[in-house]
Amino acid sequence: MAGYREHISVSGLLGFIYGSVGIFLFGFSVEQAILGWCLCWLAGMLPDLDSKTGRPVREIFGLLAIAVPVLLIRRIANWMPSPERLILTLGILYVVIRYGGAALLGKFAVHRGMFHSIPAMLIAAGAAFLVYDCELSARCFMAGAVGSGFLSHLVLDEMYSVTWSGLGLKLNSAAGSAIKMGGKNLYANLFTYALLALVAYGMAVEIGYLPMINFSEGPDRIRQAMEPIRQLN
Ligand SMILES: [Zn+2]
Repeated sequence: MAGYREHISVSGLLGFIYGSVGIFLFGFSVEQAILGWCLCWLAGMLPDLDSKTGRPVREIFGLLAIAVPVLLIRRIANWMPSPERLILTLGILYVVIRYGGAALLGKFAVHRGMFHSIPAMLIAAGAAFLVYDCELSARCFMAGAVGSGFLSHLVLDEMYSVTWSGLGLKLNSAAGSAIKMGGKNLYANLFTYALLALVAYGMAVEIGYLPMINFSEGPDRIRQAMEPIRQLN
């Protein structure tokens, strides 16, 4: 299994290349490229949020707790009537992610479970798209940065499950546990795919492909649908 240092080195380098490609081939600004670089670098550590081993995980949670409110700042600012409420909301978000998220994952997450999977990568990239409120091309760029960093982690973990034994290449027990579409736990799989569907729906709403569900209309819709049955009776 690749260690923390290998992951941050690879995703950091990949993020630098990703940002440079963004500037020179796609015309993104230097600030956007630096943000993409940072997101790619951070995303290269995300799958190991499921491991319960001390300091690196605490550091990843600390970084994530800062990154999410910072990315959300434009979106939240639109909803907040006063700067004090904005600051308080960002503070609460930090505490919830930093301590609540860590406690929750410490209880439920299994190392090399669904955090190390292709659907988890898509969720992370989609979440970046949703929280970053900007023009479509920049949102895709940030989502791509997170997806690339996340994927670099999965690929590196798989590469470390191959060892040279002298007679040839040998796969250890961890092989195939990083790049996968589903794990052994049915509930974890269902939860992951439900979350992926929710993120995909959110993206479709943001782009304008699908309408937003208005839950307050729910009871009226049900009453309308039941009307013909009531008339029959
Ligand atoms: Zn890993």
